[in-house]
Amino acid sequence: MAYQPVVIDPENPLGYYTGIYLAQTADERVKRKLGPDYKGGGAVTSILLYLVEHGVVDAVVVARRKKGLYGETIIAKTPEEILEATGPKWSIVPYTLGLREKLTSMDVGRVAFVGLPCQAQFLRQVKMFPLMESDFSKKIYLIISLFCMGTFAVESFLNYIKKSYHVSPDEIENISINGDELVVKHVRGEIRIPIRDALFHLQHGCLTCPDYTGLFADLSAGKALKPGFTLLITRTKLADKIVREASNTGYLKLSEPDEESLRIVIEKAREKIMRSYKYLSTVL
Ligand code: SF4
Repeated sequence: MAYQPVVIDPENPLGYYTGIYLAQTADERVKRKLGPDYKGGGAVTSILLYLVEHGVVDAVVVARRKKGLYGETIIAKTPEEILEATGPKWSIVPYTLGLREKLTSMDVGRVAFVGLPCQAQFLRQVKMFPLMESDFSKKIYLIISLFCMGTFAVESFLNYIKKSYHVSPDEIENISINGDELVVKHVRGEIRIPIRDALFHLQHGCLTCPDYTGLFADLSAGKALKPGFTLLITRTKLADKIVREASNTGYLKLSEPDEESLRIVIEKAREKIMRSYKYLSTVL
């Protein structure tokens, strides 16, 4: 059975899926890239390495962070380029800008895409209704979506950090999540911002977006409750086969998801649907 149509339903907020797994990388290169404080994760990078190194796809399209909150989309054809893009991104990287031109001009056949739920929706539409994009749509082999509660309106968020914490944008080196806080590393040290304060600086469009896990993707991935683990949701047989083969060939370690991780992802997915209803009702 191929891809199933999407229904956004608070009673079934994870949508259609074929499997759910807890995953950790088993790849030493990914662990090294994640650094000495490695506590797990890196599952998506490991799947991408499997795909390229086993010739399942010719390239992967991923976002790579440049500096601070800014990022760019790259077409990675080698393990080194994939590893270079590992790590969180905080702004929505313009996905379609030049992508079609690059993909149609490059010597690549099948491509796997990693993006956010809204980008997965765009790619699914391109794949299902090719119209003018026919060359590009034929190259979309696998769509991977990362869980997303929202991305920052970059200028607004940077302004807030400058005003409230006296850190200017060009001083920011890295941003990560630790529990309920955003940890912003900068050239003079680090600051910790409660996530509930940062949420005021989400992009407006994100407030009406109902999709947390990426219902239009083949494979959805996001942080599990168990520290260092990634929750993988496969939505097509193709995605399920890829995840299992990445495990069988030593790229991933898979286990059954624990009840609490499942409960949390369902709760967040439902919360995002309800948030979208609330904000949509204010604009209608
Ligand atoms: S919240 Fe929705 S619209 Fe905003 S970045 Fe995430 S998936 Fe895209």
